[in-house]
Amino acid sequence: MTLANVARPLEELNVEGRRVLLRLDLNVPLNQGVITDDNRIEAALPTIRGLRQRGAKVIICSHLGRPKGQRVPNLSLDPVAFRLSELLEDEVIFSHDIVGDDVEFLSRDVPKGGVMVIENLRFHPGETANDADFSAKLARLGDVYVNDAFGAVHRAHASVVGVLDHFSEFAAGPLILHEVEALRTLLKGPKRPFVGILGGAKVSDKIGVLESLLHRVDSLIIGGAMAYTFLKAQGVPVGDSLVEEDRVKLAARLLERCAERSLKVFLPTDHVVASAPDSADRHVSHRIEAGQKGFDIGPESVALFRDVINNSSTVFWNGPMGLFEVAAFSDGTKGIAEAVAAADAYTVVGGGDSAAAIRKFGLQDKVSHLSTGGGASLEFIEGKDLPGLKALKLRST
Ligand code: ADP
Ligand code: MG
Repeated sequence: MTLANVARPLEELNVEGRRVLLRLDLNVPLNQGVITDDNRIEAALPTIRGLRQRGAKVIICSHLGRPKGQRVPNLSLDPVAFRLSELLEDEVIFSHDIVGDDVEFLSRDVPKGGVMVIENLRFHPGETANDADFSAKLARLGDVYVNDAFGAVHRAHASVVGVLDHFSEFAAGPLILHEVEALRTLLKGPKRPFVGILGGAKVSDKIGVLESLLHRVDSLIIGGAMAYTFLKAQGVPVGDSLVEEDRVKLAARLLERCAERSLKVFLPTDHVVASAPDSADRHVSHRIEAGQKGFDIGPESVALFRDVINNSSTVFWNGPMGLFEVAAFSDGTKGIAEAVAAADAYTVVGGGDSAAAIRKFGLQDKVSHLSTGGGASLEFIEGKDLPGLKALKLRST
Protein backbone atom coordinates (compact mmCIF):
# COMPACT_ATOMS: atom_id res chain seq x y z
CA MET A 1 0.00 0.00 0.00
CA THR A 2 1.29 3.49 -0.75
CA LEU A 3 1.59 5.98 2.04
CA ALA A 4 -0.64 9.00 1.94
CA ASN A 5 0.07 12.55 2.94
CA VAL A 6 -2.93 12.53 5.19
CA ALA A 7 -4.29 9.49 6.97
CA ARG A 8 -7.99 8.82 6.94
CA PRO A 9 -9.38 11.41 9.30
CA LEU A 10 -11.02 10.28 12.49
CA GLU A 11 -14.28 11.89 11.35
CA GLU A 12 -14.66 9.30 8.59
CA LEU A 13 -14.38 6.37 10.93
CA ASN A 14 -17.66 4.74 11.92
CA VAL A 15 -17.50 4.69 15.72
CA GLU A 16 -21.17 4.71 16.76
CA GLY A 17 -21.75 1.98 19.32
CA ARG A 18 -18.33 0.48 18.59
CA ARG A 19 -15.29 0.03 20.79
CA VAL A 20 -12.51 2.44 19.81
CA LEU A 21 -9.08 1.34 21.03
CA LEU A 22 -7.51 4.78 21.53
CA ARG A 23 -3.73 4.98 21.97
CA LEU A 24 -2.88 8.18 23.84
CA ASP A 25 0.29 9.65 25.28
CA LEU A 26 -0.68 9.98 28.94
CA ASN A 27 2.93 9.73 30.07
CA VAL A 28 2.57 12.49 32.66
CA PRO A 29 5.18 13.45 35.25
CA LEU A 30 4.36 11.95 38.64
CA ASN A 31 5.76 12.64 42.07
CA GLN A 32 4.91 9.88 44.55
CA GLY A 33 1.72 9.00 42.71
CA VAL A 34 0.65 12.65 42.33
CA ILE A 35 0.42 14.11 38.82
CA THR A 36 2.59 17.23 38.71
CA ASP A 37 1.58 18.35 35.20
CA ASP A 38 -1.62 17.20 33.48
CA ASN A 39 -1.01 18.90 30.11
CA ARG A 40 -0.98 15.61 28.26
CA ILE A 41 -4.35 14.61 29.71
CA GLU A 42 -5.80 18.04 28.87
CA ALA A 43 -4.45 17.82 25.34
CA ALA A 44 -6.26 14.51 24.77
CA LEU A 45 -9.65 15.76 25.99
CA PRO A 46 -10.99 17.01 22.64
CA THR A 47 -10.25 13.64 21.02
CA ILE A 48 -11.95 11.75 23.85
CA ARG A 49 -14.93 14.11 23.98
CA GLY A 50 -15.39 13.95 20.21
CA LEU A 51 -15.50 10.15 20.25
CA ARG A 52 -17.95 10.06 23.17
CA GLN A 53 -20.27 12.51 21.45
CA ARG A 54 -20.33 10.22 18.44
CA GLY A 55 -21.45 7.30 20.61
CA ALA A 56 -18.16 5.44 20.75
CA LYS A 57 -17.08 3.17 23.58
CA VAL A 58 -13.66 4.66 24.30
CA ILE A 59 -10.98 2.19 25.42
CA ILE A 60 -7.85 4.17 26.27
CA CYS A 61 -4.34 2.76 26.46
CA SER A 62 -1.01 4.49 27.16
CA HIS A 63 2.43 3.91 28.56
CA LEU A 64 3.77 5.65 31.66
CA GLY A 65 7.46 5.80 32.50
CA ARG A 66 9.76 2.84 32.03
CA PRO A 67 8.54 -0.06 34.18
CA LYS A 68 10.41 -2.52 31.90
CA GLY A 69 7.71 -5.16 31.54
CA GLN A 70 6.86 -5.41 35.24
CA ARG A 71 4.11 -4.09 37.46
CA VAL A 72 5.61 -1.08 39.23
CA PRO A 73 2.94 0.26 41.63
CA ASN A 74 3.97 3.92 41.43
CA LEU A 75 3.80 3.83 37.63
CA SER A 76 0.15 2.76 37.55
CA LEU A 77 -2.18 4.67 35.23
CA ASP A 78 -4.82 4.58 37.97
CA PRO A 79 -4.20 8.20 39.12
CA VAL A 80 -4.27 9.27 35.46
CA ALA A 81 -7.66 7.59 34.98
CA PHE A 82 -8.85 9.32 38.15
CA ARG A 83 -7.68 12.73 36.91
CA LEU A 84 -9.32 12.05 33.56
CA SER A 85 -12.64 11.34 35.25
CA GLU A 86 -12.32 14.64 37.14
CA LEU A 87 -11.66 16.54 33.91
CA LEU A 88 -14.50 14.78 32.06
CA GLU A 89 -16.73 15.15 35.12
CA ASP A 90 -17.87 11.62 34.48
CA GLU A 91 -17.13 8.03 35.38
CA VAL A 92 -14.00 6.41 33.95
CA ILE A 93 -13.64 2.65 34.31
CA PHE A 94 -10.14 1.43 35.14
CA SER A 95 -8.87 -2.04 34.28
CA HIS A 96 -5.91 -3.44 36.19
CA ASP A 97 -5.53 -6.05 33.47
CA ILE A 98 -3.99 -4.94 30.18
CA VAL A 99 -5.02 -7.91 28.05
CA GLY A 100 -6.99 -11.11 28.58
CA ASP A 101 -10.55 -12.40 28.85
CA ASP A 102 -11.52 -10.26 31.85
CA VAL A 103 -10.55 -6.92 30.32
CA GLU A 104 -12.01 -7.98 26.98
CA PHE A 105 -15.29 -8.71 28.73
CA LEU A 106 -15.11 -5.34 30.54
CA SER A 107 -14.49 -3.54 27.24
CA ARG A 108 -17.63 -5.05 25.71
CA ASP A 109 -19.57 -3.88 28.75
CA VAL A 110 -18.58 -0.20 28.36
CA PRO A 111 -21.75 1.78 27.50
CA LYS A 112 -22.04 3.99 24.42
CA GLY A 113 -20.15 7.20 25.18
CA GLY A 114 -18.40 5.48 28.10
CA VAL A 115 -14.67 5.58 28.84
CA MET A 116 -12.34 2.88 30.09
CA VAL A 117 -8.60 3.20 30.77
CA ILE A 118 -6.44 0.09 30.85
CA GLU A 119 -3.32 -0.25 32.98
CA ASN A 120 0.13 0.95 31.85
CA LEU A 121 0.96 -0.92 28.63
CA ARG A 122 4.60 -1.20 29.61
CA PHE A 123 3.75 -3.37 32.62
CA HIS A 124 3.59 -6.10 29.96
CA PRO A 125 6.91 -7.04 28.30
CA GLY A 126 5.08 -7.53 24.98
CA GLU A 127 4.53 -3.77 24.54
CA THR A 128 8.09 -2.58 23.93
CA ALA A 129 8.99 -5.90 22.25
CA ASN A 130 6.20 -5.30 19.71
CA ASP A 131 5.24 -8.89 20.44
CA ALA A 132 2.78 -10.41 17.96
CA ASP A 133 0.78 -12.32 20.56
CA PHE A 134 0.45 -9.26 22.82
CA SER A 135 -0.53 -7.11 19.82
CA ALA A 136 -3.27 -9.59 18.88
CA LYS A 137 -4.63 -9.66 22.42
CA LEU A 138 -4.55 -5.88 22.71
CA ALA A 139 -6.39 -5.56 19.41
CA ARG A 140 -9.25 -7.60 20.85
CA LEU A 141 -10.11 -4.60 23.05
CA GLY A 142 -11.29 -2.53 20.08
CA ASP A 143 -13.42 -2.81 16.96
CA VAL A 144 -11.56 0.11 15.41
CA TYR A 145 -8.24 1.75 16.33
CA VAL A 146 -7.21 5.36 16.73
CA ASN A 147 -3.71 6.56 17.49
CA ASP A 148 -3.39 10.07 18.89
CA ALA A 149 -0.11 9.57 20.76
CA PHE A 150 2.38 11.63 18.79
CA GLY A 151 4.92 11.23 21.61
CA ALA A 152 5.05 7.48 20.91
CA VAL A 153 5.17 7.34 17.10
CA HIS A 154 8.96 6.98 17.02
CA ARG A 155 8.65 3.68 18.88
CA ALA A 156 7.97 0.39 17.12
CA HIS A 157 5.89 -0.87 20.02
CA ALA A 158 2.86 -3.17 20.06
CA SER A 159 0.23 -0.48 20.78
CA VAL A 160 1.66 1.76 18.06
CA VAL A 161 2.73 -0.71 15.36
CA GLY A 162 1.93 -4.40 15.98
CA VAL A 163 -1.70 -3.81 16.86
CA LEU A 164 -2.39 -2.42 13.39
CA ASP A 165 -2.00 -5.88 11.86
CA HIS A 166 -5.42 -6.61 13.33
CA PHE A 167 -7.46 -3.58 12.28
CA SER A 168 -8.93 -2.82 8.89
CA GLU A 169 -10.45 0.40 10.20
CA PHE A 170 -8.12 2.86 11.87
CA ALA A 171 -7.27 6.55 11.93
CA ALA A 172 -4.75 9.10 13.14
CA GLY A 173 -6.12 11.47 15.76
CA PRO A 174 -6.05 15.28 15.62
CA LEU A 175 -2.99 15.67 17.87
CA ILE A 176 -0.91 13.54 15.52
CA LEU A 177 -2.21 15.27 12.39
CA HIS A 178 -1.55 18.69 13.90
CA GLU A 179 2.01 17.77 14.91
CA VAL A 180 2.80 16.27 11.53
CA GLU A 181 1.49 19.32 9.72
CA ALA A 182 3.44 21.78 11.89
CA LEU A 183 6.72 19.86 11.76
CA ARG A 184 6.35 19.22 8.05
CA THR A 185 6.15 22.99 7.51
CA LEU A 186 9.73 23.20 8.81
CA LEU A 187 10.95 20.53 6.42
CA LYS A 188 8.99 21.56 3.33
CA GLY A 189 9.48 25.10 2.10
CA PRO A 190 9.82 27.08 5.34
CA LYS A 191 9.61 30.87 4.99
CA ARG A 192 13.09 32.37 5.02
CA PRO A 193 15.19 33.35 6.82
CA PHE A 194 14.92 30.19 8.92
CA VAL A 195 16.81 30.03 12.22
CA GLY A 196 17.41 26.89 14.24
CA ILE A 197 18.08 27.36 17.96
CA LEU A 198 19.64 24.42 19.75
CA GLY A 199 20.49 24.10 23.39
CA GLY A 200 20.25 21.58 26.16
CA ALA A 201 22.66 19.35 27.88
CA LYS A 202 24.42 17.24 25.30
CA VAL A 203 25.74 17.54 21.75
CA SER A 204 25.48 13.75 21.46
CA ASP A 205 21.68 13.90 21.93
CA LYS A 206 21.29 16.42 19.16
CA ILE A 207 23.70 15.34 16.41
CA GLY A 208 20.89 14.04 14.18
CA VAL A 209 18.88 17.25 14.55
CA LEU A 210 21.98 19.36 13.97
CA GLU A 211 22.85 17.45 10.81
CA SER A 212 19.31 17.83 9.53
CA LEU A 213 19.05 21.54 10.36
CA LEU A 214 22.38 22.18 8.66
CA HIS A 215 20.68 21.54 5.32
CA ARG A 216 17.58 23.54 6.08
CA VAL A 217 18.31 26.68 8.09
CA ASP A 218 19.93 30.00 7.20
CA SER A 219 21.42 30.46 10.64
CA LEU A 220 22.03 28.38 13.68
CA ILE A 221 22.08 29.53 17.30
CA ILE A 222 23.75 27.20 19.78
CA GLY A 223 23.36 27.75 23.52
CA GLY A 224 23.01 25.68 26.65
CA ALA A 225 25.65 23.28 27.90
CA MET A 226 26.22 21.94 24.39
CA ALA A 227 27.63 25.34 23.36
CA TYR A 228 30.75 24.66 25.44
CA THR A 229 31.75 21.72 23.28
CA PHE A 230 31.48 24.00 20.23
CA LEU A 231 33.35 26.87 21.92
CA LYS A 232 36.10 24.44 22.89
CA ALA A 233 36.27 23.28 19.27
CA GLN A 234 36.88 26.95 18.34
CA GLY A 235 39.68 27.17 20.88
CA VAL A 236 37.72 29.42 23.27
CA PRO A 237 38.53 28.72 26.94
CA VAL A 238 35.49 27.27 28.71
CA GLY A 239 36.95 26.62 32.18
CA ASP A 240 35.31 23.62 33.80
CA SER A 241 32.02 23.92 31.87
CA LEU A 242 30.30 20.75 30.69
CA VAL A 243 32.22 19.59 27.61
CA GLU A 244 31.83 16.29 25.81
CA GLU A 245 35.49 15.68 25.09
CA ASP A 246 34.73 12.90 22.64
CA ARG A 247 32.55 15.26 20.59
CA VAL A 248 34.91 18.23 20.26
CA LYS A 249 36.28 17.00 16.91
CA LEU A 250 32.77 16.37 15.65
CA ALA A 251 31.74 19.87 16.75
CA ALA A 252 34.70 21.31 14.83
CA ARG A 253 33.67 19.36 11.72
CA LEU A 254 30.06 20.52 12.03
CA LEU A 255 31.26 24.13 12.28
CA GLU A 256 33.36 23.63 9.13
CA ARG A 257 30.36 22.28 7.28
CA CYS A 258 28.31 25.28 8.37
CA ALA A 259 31.05 27.58 7.05
CA GLU A 260 31.13 25.70 3.71
CA ARG A 261 27.40 26.31 3.37
CA SER A 262 27.80 29.99 4.38
CA LEU A 263 25.47 29.25 7.22
CA LYS A 264 25.84 31.69 10.10
CA VAL A 265 26.47 30.08 13.49
CA PHE A 266 25.93 32.09 16.66
CA LEU A 267 27.49 30.92 19.91
CA PRO A 268 27.23 32.68 23.28
CA THR A 269 29.71 35.49 23.84
CA ASP A 270 29.05 35.93 27.56
CA HIS A 271 27.95 33.57 30.29
CA VAL A 272 26.54 33.34 33.79
CA VAL A 273 29.34 31.49 35.53
CA ALA A 274 29.81 29.96 38.98
CA SER A 275 31.91 27.23 40.53
CA ALA A 276 28.70 25.30 41.33
CA PRO A 277 24.98 25.98 40.78
CA ASP A 278 24.46 26.95 44.43
CA SER A 279 27.70 28.82 45.03
CA ALA A 280 27.79 32.54 45.90
CA ASP A 281 30.50 33.37 43.30
CA ARG A 282 27.96 33.58 40.47
CA HIS A 283 28.64 36.40 38.00
CA VAL A 284 28.34 37.38 34.34
CA SER A 285 31.54 37.19 32.33
CA HIS A 286 32.95 36.99 28.82
CA ARG A 287 35.63 34.61 30.04
CA ILE A 288 35.20 31.36 31.91
CA GLU A 289 38.18 30.78 34.20
CA ALA A 290 39.46 27.41 35.37
CA GLY A 291 37.31 26.13 38.24
CA GLN A 292 34.28 27.98 36.84
CA LYS A 293 31.39 26.63 34.81
CA GLY A 294 28.94 28.31 32.47
CA PHE A 295 25.38 27.63 33.65
CA ASP A 296 23.55 30.09 31.41
CA ILE A 297 24.10 32.42 28.48
CA GLY A 298 24.72 36.05 29.47
CA PRO A 299 22.67 39.18 28.60
CA GLU A 300 24.89 40.14 25.64
CA SER A 301 24.28 36.69 24.10
CA VAL A 302 20.54 37.03 24.71
CA ALA A 303 20.55 40.37 22.86
CA LEU A 304 22.61 38.92 20.00
CA PHE A 305 20.36 35.87 19.63
CA ARG A 306 17.22 38.02 19.95
CA ASP A 307 18.30 40.08 16.93
CA VAL A 308 18.74 36.96 14.83
CA ILE A 309 15.33 35.64 15.93
CA ASN A 310 13.70 39.03 15.22
CA ASN A 311 14.99 38.95 11.68
CA SER A 312 13.75 35.43 10.94
CA SER A 313 10.47 34.26 9.41
CA THR A 314 10.71 30.68 10.65
CA VAL A 315 12.08 29.62 14.03
CA PHE A 316 12.67 26.14 15.40
CA TRP A 317 13.84 25.96 19.00
CA ASN A 318 14.94 22.89 20.92
CA GLY A 319 16.90 22.83 24.14
CA PRO A 320 17.14 25.33 27.04
CA MET A 321 19.92 27.93 27.04
CA GLY A 322 21.03 27.08 30.55
CA LEU A 323 20.25 25.34 33.80
CA PHE A 324 16.81 27.01 33.69
CA GLU A 325 15.37 24.87 36.50
CA VAL A 326 17.47 27.02 38.89
CA ALA A 327 16.12 30.59 39.01
CA ALA A 328 19.61 32.14 39.03
CA PHE A 329 20.34 30.50 35.66
CA SER A 330 16.97 30.89 33.95
CA ASP A 331 17.29 34.38 32.44
CA GLY A 332 18.94 33.18 29.22
CA THR A 333 16.23 30.63 28.49
CA LYS A 334 13.55 33.15 29.48
CA GLY A 335 15.06 35.80 27.21
CA ILE A 336 15.10 33.42 24.25
CA ALA A 337 11.56 32.20 25.04
CA GLU A 338 10.37 35.83 25.07
CA ALA A 339 12.15 36.56 21.79
CA VAL A 340 10.62 33.49 20.13
CA ALA A 341 7.19 34.41 21.51
CA ALA A 342 7.48 38.00 20.22
CA ALA A 343 8.84 37.07 16.78
CA ASP A 344 6.71 37.84 13.75
CA ALA A 345 7.47 34.36 12.42
CA TYR A 346 6.28 30.77 12.26
CA THR A 347 7.66 29.46 15.54
CA VAL A 348 7.94 25.85 16.62
CA VAL A 349 9.27 24.78 20.02
CA GLY A 350 10.06 21.10 20.55
CA GLY A 351 11.62 18.90 23.22
CA GLY A 352 10.46 17.88 26.67
CA ASP A 353 12.50 20.36 28.71
CA SER A 354 12.04 23.16 26.18
CA ALA A 355 8.26 22.71 26.36
CA ALA A 356 8.48 22.74 30.17
CA ALA A 357 10.53 25.94 29.99
CA ILE A 358 8.11 27.78 27.71
CA ARG A 359 5.23 26.78 29.98
CA LYS A 360 7.16 27.87 33.05
CA PHE A 361 7.37 31.36 31.55
CA GLY A 362 3.68 31.25 30.56
CA LEU A 363 4.46 31.75 26.86
CA GLN A 364 3.03 28.46 25.53
CA ASP A 365 0.18 30.22 23.69
CA LYS A 366 2.52 32.73 22.08
CA VAL A 367 4.27 30.27 19.77
CA SER A 368 2.83 28.90 16.54
CA HIS A 369 3.31 25.31 17.61
CA LEU A 370 4.45 23.74 20.86
CA SER A 371 5.43 20.23 19.95
CA THR A 372 4.65 17.78 22.72
CA GLY A 373 6.51 14.92 21.13
CA GLY A 374 9.93 15.13 22.77
CA GLY A 375 11.93 12.37 21.06
CA ALA A 376 9.32 11.94 18.33
CA SER A 377 9.52 15.61 17.29
CA LEU A 378 13.30 15.51 17.12
CA GLU A 379 13.30 12.31 15.05
CA PHE A 380 10.74 13.87 12.71
CA ILE A 381 13.02 16.91 12.23
CA GLU A 382 15.90 14.51 11.60
CA GLY A 383 13.87 13.22 8.65
CA LYS A 384 13.66 9.70 10.06
CA ASP A 385 10.89 7.29 9.18
CA LEU A 386 8.67 7.08 12.22
CA PRO A 387 7.28 3.53 12.65
CA GLY A 388 4.03 4.69 14.27
CA LEU A 389 3.22 7.02 11.37
CA LYS A 390 4.14 4.39 8.82
CA ALA A 391 1.81 1.91 10.54
CA LEU A 392 -0.98 4.47 10.17
CA LYS A 393 -0.09 4.74 6.46
CA LEU A 394 0.96 8.29 7.11
CA ARG A 395 4.12 9.72 5.56
CA SER A 396 6.60 11.39 7.91
CA THR A 397 8.07 13.78 5.37
P1 ADP B 1 14.95 19.02 25.57
O1 ADP B 1 14.30 18.06 26.55
O2 ADP B 1 14.14 20.26 25.38
O3 ADP B 1 15.32 18.34 24.28
P2 ADP B 1 17.55 18.62 26.72
O4 ADP B 1 17.03 17.41 27.43
O5 ADP B 1 18.51 18.44 25.63
O6 ADP B 1 16.32 19.53 26.25
O7 ADP B 1 18.30 19.56 27.79
C1 ADP B 1 17.69 20.10 28.89
C2 ADP B 1 18.60 20.14 30.09
O8 ADP B 1 19.82 20.78 29.81
C3 ADP B 1 17.95 20.92 31.20
O9 ADP B 1 17.77 20.06 32.30
C4 ADP B 1 18.96 22.01 31.52
O10 ADP B 1 19.10 22.27 32.88
C5 ADP B 1 20.23 21.45 30.96
N1 ADP B 1 21.22 22.51 30.66
C6 ADP B 1 21.18 23.40 29.66
N2 ADP B 1 22.25 24.23 29.72
C7 ADP B 1 22.98 23.84 30.79
C8 ADP B 1 24.21 24.30 31.37
N3 ADP B 1 24.87 25.31 30.86
N4 ADP B 1 24.66 23.62 32.44
C9 ADP B 1 23.98 22.59 32.96
N5 ADP B 1 22.82 22.12 32.46
C10 ADP B 1 22.33 22.74 31.38
MG1 MG C 1 15.15 16.57 27.84
